Amino acid sequence: MSALELADAVRTGARTAVDVLEQHLAEIRSREPEIHAFNLVTEAVGREQAAAVDAAVAAGDDPGPLAGVPVALKDNTCTRGIATTAGSRILDQWRPPYDATVVTRLREAGAVLVGKTNLDEFAMGSSTENSAFGPTRNPLDPSRVPGGSSGGSAAAVAAGFAAVGIGSDTGGSIRQPAALCGVVGLKPTYGGVSRYGLMAFASSLDQIGPFTATVADAATVYEVIAGHDPLDSTSIPQPARPITATLDQGVEGLRVGIIGELSGDVAAGSVEGIAPDVVARLHEAAAALEAAGARVGTASVPAAVYGVSAYYLIAPAEASSNLARYDGVRFGLRVDGHNTHQMNANTRTAGFGAEVKRRIMLGTYALSAGYYDAYYGKAQRVRTLIIDDFDAAYADFDLLLSPTSPTTAFALGAKTADPLTMYLNDVCTIPSNLAGHPAVSVPFGVGDDGLPVGVQVLAPMQAEPLMMRAAAVLEAAAA
Ligand code: GLN
Repeated sequence: MSALELADAVRTGARTAVDVLEQHLAEIRSREPEIHAFNLVTEAVGREQAAAVDAAVAAGDDPGPLAGVPVALKDNTCTRGIATTAGSRILDQWRPPYDATVVTRLREAGAVLVGKTNLDEFAMGSSTENSAFGPTRNPLDPSRVPGGSSGGSAAAVAAGFAAVGIGSDTGGSIRQPAALCGVVGLKPTYGGVSRYGLMAFASSLDQIGPFTATVADAATVYEVIAGHDPLDSTSIPQPARPITATLDQGVEGLRVGIIGELSGDVAAGSVEGIAPDVVARLHEAAAALEAAGARVGTASVPAAVYGVSAYYLIAPAEASSNLARYDGVRFGLRVDGHNTHQMNANTRTAGFGAEVKRRIMLGTYALSAGYYDAYYGKAQRVRTLIIDDFDAAYADFDLLLSPTSPTTAFALGAKTADPLTMYLNDVCTIPSNLAGHPAVSVPFGVGDDGLPVGVQVLAPMQAEPLMMRAAAVLEAAAA
């Protein structure tokens, strides 16, 4: 059942929230040992919240649009009094003293927390293999990765452990795992959803968004969590634009551009490495939009091909600054030393994994005096080029289309030996983060291996309503 169907059943009294929760907990008991979607299953908290929802229904109150909907929350999102690890040993034993704004809004909408989901340490990765607590497996084929970094949330929705997953997307960490697990994944406009209580990775890129089984569910969750929050200074000071009311309006007359540089057609200037089966689904998706009345053409975002290079300077640079706070004094783990400096070093040496250390070193180097202009400054200029190229493309097109991930889900261990190969997973998703634009991954058929392919719909700032209309058309066509 979709989140909307569950909420409807709970609101009308056809089912209790406790019953819905127990059904999902039973799924978790049966398959979680194999999948490892969660760092923590919050059964007791969930039961308490579900009981409160049932009490509200019994009292004649409406618990909200997500009444009794089980939610799996990425474990870099703070929950008051509940361990929040970011997939890292450095936060050992730490319990946040407050809830993230998304957590508060979900609860106020009637949602029920089922657990905190596994992730690549501090959201750095594309496979969830960088978690300090072991990898998550793809429920559709446990020999494969679920994608990352929000792999636990994607797997939780795909496995039926929760109707809604919450993730964070800095370079693709919602959309790529959504594609690999065959679910919908939405990255809202930068500033669209409050990040208060999200552990910062790269502050100019991070956004929170939902994983769901359906486009309508994603639209509903977005409406619950989006909108201004005075606690996040990067939050857009306006209410979110409603999506659900116009979701079924179709794409008649809309201009949709396939991004040539991400189309797999190398002779025509596309990046290499986009698999032929993924390219085939992309073109079928474009044909489906055309059949629904859209005018489809080829768009050009030339600087998109430099997105990965710019991102892997900007994101580590910001991470090196954001992660300075994990010093053995303020949070979690402390490994003693003979002076404070040594204690800091010992704690960080023991507490951080290899990928996080690599990013901190890269970022510190890129920001160092003498190299700042050559690396960080140049990456920021590339970022501006990407924004300008998107603006030019959106003069001719309402929406853009690309694959979400260059391939379907790959085998565990296939890319861990070579960080660069892993980074290339993000080639199609990173440009939207650099521009701050929204994008959504919709499942569209399967690859040659029978595993899901995701197609990405991209839109200009705050054009989620239009973007999700196209997503709904793709969902209907893929069914
Ligand atoms: N895979 C990218 C990275 O490793 C994106 C991660 C993310 O979006 N959090 O940085």
